[in-house]
Amino acid sequence: ALIGLGYLAYGIYEDRHPVDQHPADPSKKTLVILGSGWGSVSLLKKIDTENYNVVVISPRNFFLFTPLLPACTTGTIEHRSIMEPLRNILRHKTAAVTFYEAECTQIDPVNRVLTLRDNSEIKGDIAETSLPFDYLVIGVGAQNTTFGIPGVQENACFLKEIPDAQKIRTRIMDCIETATFKDQTEEERKRLLHMVVVGGGPTGVEFAGELQDFFEEDLRKWVPEISDDFHVSLVEALPNVLPMFSKQLINYTEKTFKDEKINIHTKTMVKKVTEKTIFAEVTKADGTKEMIEMPYGLLVWATGNAPRSVVRDLMTKIPAQAKARRGLEVNDYLVVNGTEGIWALGDCAATKYAPTAQVATQQGQYLARLFNTMAKTQALEEDIAHLEELGHATASIDDKKAIATEIEAKAKTLRRSKRLMPFQYTHQGSLAYIGSDKAIADLTFGDGNNLTSSGQLTYLFWRSAYVSMCFSTRNKLLVIMDWLKVKMFGRDVSR
Ligand code: NAD
Repeated sequence: ALIGLGYLAYGIYEDRHPVDQHPADPSKKTLVILGSGWGSVSLLKKIDTENYNVVVISPRNFFLFTPLLPACTTGTIEHRSIMEPLRNILRHKTAAVTFYEAECTQIDPVNRVLTLRDNSEIKGDIAETSLPFDYLVIGVGAQNTTFGIPGVQENACFLKEIPDAQKIRTRIMDCIETATFKDQTEEERKRLLHMVVVGGGPTGVEFAGELQDFFEEDLRKWVPEISDDFHVSLVEALPNVLPMFSKQLINYTEKTFKDEKINIHTKTMVKKVTEKTIFAEVTKADGTKEMIEMPYGLLVWATGNAPRSVVRDLMTKIPAQAKARRGLEVNDYLVVNGTEGIWALGDCAATKYAPTAQVATQQGQYLARLFNTMAKTQALEEDIAHLEELGHATASIDDKKAIATEIEAKAKTLRRSKRLMPFQYTHQGSLAYIGSDKAIADLTFGDGNNLTSSGQLTYLFWRSAYVSMCFSTRNKLLVIMDWLKVKMFGRDVSR
């Protein structure tokens, strides 16, 4: 089996020769793609890079398979298993793509130029520069929202990127080691072992489930002295968790959490956070409100998205975006309203769809079709112009007729390719892991038929769906190996 795996790995990597690609062609129109997330990468996978001078800008030089990020916080999955180097994605394109690891800090939509900042720790002579573009696709994602609630930014952990997951993993063990320090007071020990998750969306629910698994399957065994005091609480402002799932699955999740001993505090809105305490307003059954205090050791904040500063800054520069709040408003073709030749996709675009990986992926595929079609259209227009010139130049009636027929055929293809349909999203369903080897699935198929399922079989489906969605064979193998490793040896409890 090992030899087989070796051959498979060799087969996958043997064609890794970026030097074999056509070099990038700066004489072509420059298409800049911002971001290396779901939207930008799905666009990159499908676009024909022969037609443009494609430049990709992202502060991280890899694609991150975000659905498995909650599992990284407890070491169920190692972070490198869900990272795919961008250069490994780009080397498959026929014409080379230029990549700069940088943060785009400003977009000038009038002069069509970007400001880029090298935000790596090591700085060279040039730390900031500019880059002109003809076409721009903005796929920079979003940042965590705090709603300006005091103390959140300073005291909470978030869950969006790899360093966030690593910070949480360290914090969990830190809380445990400090709680079990010699002569630690009873009260302090209880506080340190109280793990609070704010936000009952899929991120909060999946993280709470993973953390409780970590406790039940490993921590309880390795550090038995924390058994009575380790608690996970999930705080949600609305009357129930997972509002995007069906009622039946919400009830199933809430019941599973109760069985797993995760405390769910619904109708509880966090108003303020200090270094050791959360202050929240609870709406009681009779409608009255009460302020409660929750001492905590770890606070994970998962209350959804807010636009990044580069996007907010761009919105102020475009009068048509004056009313935009959630992100860049786009038309049916994903063109940023009030601009020309600038598109937005994924979490930085405000559309009628939820900001999910599925939406971003389909938007990326749509834009790839759009750019491929645009190039084809331009080539046809040039062909027709050339044929028209030939037609004028020739004296032969027969040649004129033949050229006219050819022009008509090309014009027909041109008309067809110009009829580009607006972006249409096809929802295939939602999946979430809820802990103790159980998952929930709300699937859509055919003409909007719905199928809901939950439990351990759904967890197997969840696992196989996510493995099949992992970017590369290497990622798939690493994820499977991580699961096997945890099954055999348990999770690593070192800090
Ligand atoms: P979310 O927006 O889905 O949920 C955030 C929750 O936080 C809301 O229910 C909100 O009521 C609550 N909240 C806000 N302020 C609060 C406060 N002060 N106190 C208590 N609760 C508060 O956020 P998410 O889970 O980060 O998801 C973001 C997007 O990504 C969503 O569109 C989601 O569907 C998608 N996503 C999907 C999956 C999946 O399908 N498995 C996984 C992760 C994320």
